[in-house]
Amino acid sequence: MDTSDLLRIMPSVTTSGGIINGKVTEGFLFNYGKGKQTSIVCICHGRFFSPAEFVKHGGGKEVDNLMEFINIVDDASIGNA
Ligand SMILES: [Zn+2]
Repeated sequence: MDTSDLLRIMPSVTTSGGIINGKVTEGFLFNYGKGKQTSIVCICHGRFFSPAEFVKHGGGKEVDNLMEFINIVDDASIGNA
C-alpha cells in the first residue's frame, strides 16, 4: 500500500456535535483491525475516537443518528469550483 492509497482510505470528516452553528471539529476517518472498526482521529489533539466519541468531542452529546452529525469531506469536490 502506498501513500496515495492511505490518503484515499482516510477521508476528512467534520462534526459540529449536532449543534447548529457550533464549532466544527475536524478529523480523519479510517478503519482498522479485524472487524474493520471505524475510528476517527481528531486534528486538534491527534486523539483516537469512535464515531460516537468524536461527535461528543465536537461538543455534542449521545445521539442515535450518529452519521447525520458526521460530515465526510470529499476533497475531490473542493477545488473543482
Ligand atoms: Zn481534539
